[in-house]
Amino acid sequence: MAVITRPSPNFNDRRLPLSMLVLHYTGMETGEAAIERLCDPEFSVSAHYVVEEDGRVFQLVSEDKRAWHAGKGVWRGCSDINSASIGVEIVNGGHDFGLPDYPEAQIEAVLALCQGILVRHPIKACDVIGHSDLAPDRKQDPGEKFPWKRFAEAGVGLWPQAVPSVLPPCAPGDEGEAVTALRQALCDIGYGAEPAGAYDQALKAVVLAFQRRFRSQALTGVADEETCALIEGLRRQVTSVIPKG
Ligand SMILES: [Zn+2]
Repeated sequence: MAVITRPSPNFNDRRLPLSMLVLHYTGMETGEAAIERLCDPEFSVSAHYVVEEDGRVFQLVSEDKRAWHAGKGVWRGCSDINSASIGVEIVNGGHDFGLPDYPEAQIEAVLALCQGILVRHPIKACDVIGHSDLAPDRKQDPGEKFPWKRFAEAGVGLWPQAVPSVLPPCAPGDEGEAVTALRQALCDIGYGAEPAGAYDQALKAVVLAFQRRFRSQALTGVADEETCALIEGLRRQVTSVIPKG
């Protein structure tokens, strides 16, 4: 695929092996404005790639370097996500600009780019994530319109099959065994959920991040029956790849 080089000075050396792929939306009015910011030393942000709405792919940072796209967050116990990941910014106004649909040309380009990244690097399907997965308390990107199911079917990321009646449903404010089981399942998937505690705002944000990816018709933050069945389904897929230790 044709890649346009547009070097950003905003990078440094990786401190961890590469193991994750993180997808974002730019959340700005235009792609050009986003690229300018990602190349501006004053902003100290960057990504390895930016994919324009028409499908043009810009490379800002070399894959072996550490781009600055993730910020504060946790995935699979790792808190230096930038050191462990490749970051792809998808040009889209996001929630602040009406959450536009992703054009087909753009989705095809992102998919081809991701497939190439997964061929070049040992990144597991369970570690292809959105920015909202690693920072559920402060990020919503790439948003509920991103076609995660299509990507999973094309080998980029996972898609759960529902396993009903294992995880009991629960809701914000609850405490007890159901909440503990929910926390454990979300941790097994990779989310940075604390292992114990009541169903607080932080847990609600994690459930909402899960729904944004896998149950976008119900963005409630409530672990209802269907959400729990999907969480359990995904947990089983992930733990069959990564044994519990
Ligand atoms: Zn982001």
